[in-house]
Amino acid sequence: MLALPLSWPLTDKRVVLIGAGPWLARKVTLLAATPASLHIYMPVEPQRIEAAAETFNRWPESAELEGAALIVVAFEDRPLAEHGAALARTSKAPLNVVDYPDLSDFHFPAIVDRGPLSIGIATGGTSPVLARETRAKIEAAVPPSEAHLAEFALRLSPILRVRINDVDERRRAWEDILKSPAAELARAGRIDEALAVVELSDAPRQGVVHLVGAGPGDPELLTLKALRLLSEADVIVYDRLVGDGILALARRDADRFYVGKARSNHSVPQDQIHDLLVEQARLGKRVVRLKGGDPFVFGRGGEEVEALRAAGIEVHVTPGITAALGCAASAGVPLTHRDHAQSVTFITGHSKDGDHSNPLMLDWSALSAPHHTLVVYMGVATAHEVSTKLMRHGRLPDTPVLVIENGTRPDAAYMPATLGSLENTLKAQPPKGPALLIIGEVAGLYQAESLVKTATKVLEETGA
Ligand code: SAH
Repeated sequence: MLALPLSWPLTDKRVVLIGAGPWLARKVTLLAATPASLHIYMPVEPQRIEAAAETFNRWPESAELEGAALIVVAFEDRPLAEHGAALARTSKAPLNVVDYPDLSDFHFPAIVDRGPLSIGIATGGTSPVLARETRAKIEAAVPPSEAHLAEFALRLSPILRVRINDVDERRRAWEDILKSPAAELARAGRIDEALAVVELSDAPRQGVVHLVGAGPGDPELLTLKALRLLSEADVIVYDRLVGDGILALARRDADRFYVGKARSNHSVPQDQIHDLLVEQARLGKRVVRLKGGDPFVFGRGGEEVEALRAAGIEVHVTPGITAALGCAASAGVPLTHRDHAQSVTFITGHSKDGDHSNPLMLDWSALSAPHHTLVVYMGVATAHEVSTKLMRHGRLPDTPVLVIENGTRPDAAYMPATLGSLENTLKAQPPKGPALLIIGEVAGLYQAESLVKTATKVLEETGA
């Protein structure tokens, strides 16, 4: 973040504008939408100002700048802007010189105005056009009716503050109200009716745990539901496979517990994770247990659900894109294909107690059938056992294998091999991040060069 978009209350405040022409007019229009009183100095070309404001056809005296909440200088002409800025500097008020960031203390973000609800989009001055395009998206996503809702919230706020003392309780009451029929009335502009039907329940809130799939890494692969739950959570319990990009989408003031897991290094034992989830839910919190991929695919989600149910805690599961699907997509390898594979099996290369000297208990002859795709999670440590057993049960040594490390992430790596060469490939380039194996004819469809080739071709064609 290059710049921090702050919000600056302007009730009972004075804003001074010094400028000329359309640059001045635009800022007058913007600031007239706030409760500030505007004092406008137009030393070069006096113009008609539509907004309620005090106007002066001269430069301001320094005494007139004293105590201003903000000063805005708006001249297209650089020397005039510099002169205005120099005058403004006699006061301590934060200064914006329109379109001259080097002379300014602050920039105006692109603004979506929804009455009391205002949204600012800042790029630290690097790309106003990007800010504008983002604003267009937000304009579309936040309907004008949100202004009514914000108006309703503004009027309800003092009532709620008197009725509910506890800050957490009050936040939850807000969340309930904003999803209630009262909010719908408010959106329709029927604010008095909305205020009349608000119901405040005194019952203590029940905690709940959501097991949420975070997908394989790319934050854009989250479901909309996961995104909503993350933004509503009081508590987030996450492990190693969940990337920072995803955590950044969670409610900022949520309590976060890292229960990181790496293979054969369960930093927090599973039963302690259960205890933590139960304890937080009993405090009445909305807990999101964020798990890499899908919670029910090799994620011990089943055990967590059982423990929560046994403790009488409400539990919900939100699926996520499991690593096999994410990795296959990012490698461009279809897991099934009319010509190459009619079925696919996901297996784990990790035995229950994590001891790799114990053989994996799997039906090897079924897994060794041709035209069948096998995806091995946690399969790096036991790759040798898997490849040997598959070959012993009839899969050919030249069966293609693709090792995918950090699939869907910016640092994704793809290592093509065959069953026969797998062990050596992994020895030569041992994966450090999470990795899985795709075994079967479809793995041979991986084309390492295709993207590069296309890119080179494009460059050649465009003569770049
Ligand atoms: N519940 C998760 C799997 C947890 S087991 C899911 O549905 O995806 C952890 C294993 O998943 C890792 O050892 C690795 O084999 C695989 N994995 C998870 N994320 C991965 C990624 N981004 N790239 C490659 N493999 C991944």
